[in-house]
Amino acid sequence: MKKERSEKEQSPRVEDYLESIYHLIHEKGYANTTDISHKLKVKAPTVSIMVGKLASKGYLEYEPYRGMNLTGKGEKVARSVINRHAVIYEFLSMIGIEDEIAREDTEGIEHHVQPTTIYRLQRLVVFLKNKPGIVKSIRDFIEAR
Ligand code: ZN
Repeated sequence: MKKERSEKEQSPRVEDYLESIYHLIHEKGYANTTDISHKLKVKAPTVSIMVGKLASKGYLEYEPYRGMNLTGKGEKVARSVINRHAVIYEFLSMIGIEDEIAREDTEGIEHHVQPTTIYRLQRLVVFLKNKPGIVKSIRDFIEAR
C-alpha cells in the first residue's frame, strides 16, 4: 500500500486545480484562467502561474489564447480526486451532515485519504445504499440526543 502513496504525492492545491479543470472541460468543453479563478476563488495571475507549473510537470497542455487540456497523467490525478470526492460526499450526506458542510468538508478531506480508505468507505456506502433501514437507524441514533 505504501507504493500507491507515491501516486498521490501531489499537493492539495495541485489536486484542486486538476479537479476544477477536469470539471470545466467536461461542463463547458474547455477551461480557461478566468473560469478556474472563479471556481477556486484564486486571483487570475496566481492561476496563470499554477497553470504554467502544471504544464511543466506534464499534467496539462497549454497553448496561450487557445486554452488547456489535461494530459493522461493530469486526467488520472483528476479522476482519482473526483472519485474520492464522490465517495466522501456520499458518506457524509448519508450520515446526515447538512449539504453545505458536507461539500466544504469533502473538499478538505479528499486530499488526505489513501486508496485503501477510499476503497473501504466506498464499499460501506454501496452496502448502506441497499439498506435504507440501517441508514435510518444510524441517523436516528446520531440525532437522538
Ligand atoms: Zn473535490
